[in-house]
Formats: sequence, structure tokens, C-alpha cells
Amino acid sequence: MGSSLPSTARPVPDTPAALPAADQALFAAVRQGQRRGIAKAITLLESTRADHRERADALLTALLPHTAKSLRLGISGVPGVGKSTFIEALGLLLIERGHQVAVLAVDPSSSVSGGSILGDKTRMERLSVHDRAFIRPSPASGTLGGVAEKTREAMLVCEAAGYDVVIVETVGVGQSEIAVAGMTDMFVLMQLPNAGDDLQAIKKGVMEIADLVVINKADIDPNAATRAQAQITSALHLLGARAAHDESTWQPQVMQLSALTGKGLADFWAHVDRFSRLQRANGRFDSRRQQQAKSWMWDMIHAGLRQRFAHDPTVRTQLAATTDDVLHGRRAASTAARELLALFSNTNP
Ligand code: GDP
Repeated sequence: MGSSLPSTARPVPDTPAALPAADQALFAAVRQGQRRGIAKAITLLESTRADHRERADALLTALLPHTAKSLRLGISGVPGVGKSTFIEALGLLLIERGHQVAVLAVDPSSSVSGGSILGDKTRMERLSVHDRAFIRPSPASGTLGGVAEKTREAMLVCEAAGYDVVIVETVGVGQSEIAVAGMTDMFVLMQLPNAGDDLQAIKKGVMEIADLVVINKADIDPNAATRAQAQITSALHLLGARAAHDESTWQPQVMQLSALTGKGLADFWAHVDRFSRLQRANGRFDSRRQQQAKSWMWDMIHAGLRQRFAHDPTVRTQLAATTDDVLHGRRAASTAARELLALFSNTNP
């Protein structure tokens, strides 16, 4: 990736006339890369108020043409594997090479507990104070399209602000890994050197979606790391990842590194760089983004329809009785669904 980036202090860009005056200033602040402006824009996106949502949508539309040049990197792994140590070390290396780095989190626990396991301010202390880095903890809970929705939007804001590497981090539980793989250009799975022994990730189907598997903490036991690398590599073979070998197509790789000592970090970025070049050359970079945008739209449509259905007054009067019919075998579930959907359509012509 090139290192010729605009400096953080950029001239005020032309502001789109469609935005209200207050949001024109916000747009300009984001485009200039002002951290407070970026944080304010993300807060606006996270708001659940309808008027805020309208302003947020207009702002997103204005920012969207400025978001294409980034690389979106998803990073996942169990708690303790070394994600924050790795992201901090990588972030500092990338900044040194002229990049601007944003780190966002998808936290599957935040929608349940309201708390945030990834939002801890003490994490990535050196990176978080750097003026070419932007770190945002997990968004507030209970969003319409699931845990990843607000992170997707925050990602666009960061890109429009000039961050050319956006790292999206998640812990290796539940659906969050699938969500992160579905919103990034490259998905990296971090493993511990003993992971090859039980191959948990393979059982969960996560290995199939990894573009790169990183075995961290190789400094502790280099032999174990090498064994794990061989095991995971052969597991990827079994999964058929290398079946159609072809120089123009990226094949999932397995590598080892130490986030703590920094050994292997430059090699990691070389892999990312090669991935990015291959994907752009063979058209998969753009097609993956297009596919992701389309499924994001459908996710939101489905979530919106589900919410409207559940809140529809006519549906609500009938729902308990119909559910009871289904529970007691008086109506087939499919018949009940059709009847409720017909009620919903009648009240929403
Ligand atoms: P996270 O929960 O995945 O974000 O993991 P952390 O980055 O917080 O790391 C968990 C622990 O592992 C910390 O004590 C780190 O210092 C340590 N750690 C992370 N990477 C390495 C590594 O490459 N080698 C060693 N020896 N320790 C590491």
C-alpha cells in the first residue's frame, strides 16, 4: 500500500448543499479528519432518535463518495489471544509507514449486557493517543440490524475522514465473526499455538471464512507454533481452500508471529498487501464490497420489516391467539404465518 497520504490538517472541502448548516460543519470536520468531529458524527449515527437518524442518513450519503480508498481488515480471536497487543503494534507500524489507522469493535456482549468488553479505555494506550489513529469502542446496544450495524456506519465515517486502514475487531464468539467477515475486505483469524490440537475454529466454521490465519505468541513455544501452523495448513487443505490453485487468486495462508516482540509483523503486512493487490487485480475486491453492501441493505430491510410487523397494531391483536392455535395444533405454522402476513399487508397497503 502506498504511503503518500494527505496530512491530518487538510483544507476545508466543499460541503454538500443538501445538508443543514450544522451538519455541513460536521461534514467538513469529518473530511478534515478532526477527531472530535468524527466522534460527533459517529454519536449521531448511533442515536436512536428519528430526527437524528434522518440527519445521519443525509450525512452518510454526503460522506459515501469519499470512502472507497480504504482497506477494511477484520480481526478475530478468543479473549486473550492477543488482539489488542497485535492491533496496537500493527497500528504503530502502519502509522510509521504513513498510514492512518482506525480501530472499531463489534462486541457481541454489548447487546446483551449493555457493557463493553472491547471498549476498555486502557487497551491500546500508545495507539489511542496517536494523532494518526482513531479508536472507537463498541457501539451502544440494541441496534436494529444486530451488533455490526453501527460499526459498519462508523467505518464509513472513518474512511471519509482519511483513515486508509480500518481495523474491525471482534472476539471469537457467536455470530460476530461472521458479521465482521461480512463487512471487511480481508478477514484474519488469530489463534494460539495450541489451537491446532483441537481445531475449535474449524468446528465452528470460522476457518472457512478466514483469508489469513495468524498464530500468535510464537515466542512462547516456537515448536508448538510451527506444529499449529502445519496442522492448520493441512486443515485448510482438507477444507478445500487450495483446491483451485491459481496465481491470480488469493489462497488462505497460515503464518505465525509474536505481537509482543513484533516478530512477524512486517511479514503480516506483506501478506495483507499481496492479498489486497491480488483482489484488486482480479476484481474480487470490488465484487466483495458490492456483495457486502447488498446484503447489508437486505439485512436492514429484513430487520426493519420484522420490527414493523411486531409493532403493527392489527398483528398484535391477533398474534397471541394465532400463536396459541399453532402451539395446540389447530393451525399449521405456515398457515398462521400467511394469515398474519395478510393482516399486516392489509393494514400497510
Ligand atoms: P485480547 O484479549 O485478544 O485483546 O488479548 P491481549 O492483547 O489483551 O493479550 C492478552 C495477554 O497476552 C496480554 O498479557 C499480552 O501481553 C499477552 N500477549 C499478547 N501477544 C503476545 C505474544 O505475542 N507473546 C506473548 N508472550 N504474550 C502475548
